Amino acid sequence: MAYLTLRNVNKIYPNGFHAVHDFNLEAEKGEFIVFVGPSGCGKSTTLRMIAGLEDISKGEFLINGNLANNLGPREREVAMVFQSYALYPHMTVYDNLAFGLSLQGVDEDVIEKRVQKTAEILGLTEYLDRMPRALSGGQRQRVAVGRSIIRKVGVFLMDEPLSNLDAKQRVTMRSEITQIHRETGATTIYVTHDQTEAMTMADRIVVMKDGYIQQVGTPKEVYFRPVNMFVAGFIGEPPMNFIRRTVQDGKILVGSREIDVKDKLGAHAAEYEGKEIVMGFRPEAISLSAQAEDYALSGMVELTEMLGDNANVYVDIEESKAILKVTPHEIPEMDEEIVFYIPRGSVYLFDAKTEEIID
Ligand code: ATP
Repeated sequence: MAYLTLRNVNKIYPNGFHAVHDFNLEAEKGEFIVFVGPSGCGKSTTLRMIAGLEDISKGEFLINGNLANNLGPREREVAMVFQSYALYPHMTVYDNLAFGLSLQGVDEDVIEKRVQKTAEILGLTEYLDRMPRALSGGQRQRVAVGRSIIRKVGVFLMDEPLSNLDAKQRVTMRSEITQIHRETGATTIYVTHDQTEAMTMADRIVVMKDGYIQQVGTPKEVYFRPVNMFVAGFIGEPPMNFIRRTVQDGKILVGSREIDVKDKLGAHAAEYEGKEIVMGFRPEAISLSAQAEDYALSGMVELTEMLGDNANVYVDIEESKAILKVTPHEIPEMDEEIVFYIPRGSVYLFDAKTEEIID
C-alpha cells in the first residue's frame, strides 16, 4: 500500500483562485518524489497541503491508508525544510539541532547521541560549537536539514531547500541530500523549479503546470517518453528543439529537405495528412555523421558556445531555430551550412493543436 496518497486533491484559495486541480499521486514508503514546474504551478501549495499548513479544499489525503485531511501538522509526523532556513541566531549549531527534541522532552543523553549522529551524517561535527553567523550558506543549510532529520519522522518535505546556495554548493548539497535520503529511508517530497535537481535526485518526478499534473514518471520516463510538448521542453537542458510543419504526402518540408514522417506517424498517418505537427528532437540526440535510418537536416550556424566538455551550436533551419550539442572537436564555423542527423528513434512528433505526443 502506498504510504502517502493524494486523491483528486484540489486547492481553491479564499480569494477564489484555483491553484491545484485534481492532483493524484501514490508515494511508496521511502520514495524520493520531486515536484517540478515553473513558478506558480502549484508545487508549494501541494506540499503545504501535505504538511497540513494549508487546508485541502477538495479531495483526500491519506497517510498509510488513513485519511489525514483533518490532522494537524504535528500529528502528521512530517518534517519540513523551507527555502529560507531560519536558524536561531543566538544558539550554537548543537543547540539549533537539539532544540526541537528538547521541546519534546527527550532525555539529554538521547539528544546528545542524535545530535552527534546527525552532525556526522551532515559533516557538521566540527562546527557544533559555532554560532550560525560563523557558518557559510551551505553549512547553514545543512543545519536546517539536520534540524528536520534529527526528528526521525517518516516524511520529509523540502521546499526549494537549495535556492539560497551558489551553483557549486547546490551540486554538493544535491548529492548530500540524496545520501541522507538513502541513510534515513524517509519518504521525501522535494519541490524545485530546477529540472536538473529533479532529474538527479528523484525516484519519480511529478511535472506540473498551471495547477495540473502533466506527467508522473521516473527521470528516464519523463526524459525519453514525454507525454506532451510542455514536459518535452521543460525536462532537458538545452530544451528539446521543435519544428512546426504541415504534413503533405506523409512528409514535412524542412528547409530544402523532405522528411518522411509517414512511418513515424504509423496508424495516425491519414489523420494528420494536411495537418500541422511538431517535430521534436533533443540537442544531444544529433550527430554530424550519417548513419543508416537517420533523418538529415541542414542549417546555417548562427552562434557557437564552447562549454568545455561539449558545445552548443545554434542553427537557423529556415523558419525554425535549433540548438545542437556537439563535442568540442566538432564545433563548426559561424555562417557555415552544416548537415546533421537525427536517429529515427530520437524524433518525437506532437499534435500542433493539443501539443500531445502522437503515438
Ligand atoms: P514558486 O516556484 O514560485 O514557489 P509554486 O509552483 O510553488 O511557485 P505556489 O506557491 O503553489 O506555486 O502557488 C500557486 C498559485 O497559487 C500561484 O499562482 C500563486 O499566486 C497562488 N497563491 C499562492 N498562495 C495564495 C494565496 N494565499 N491566495 C491566493 N493565491 C495564492
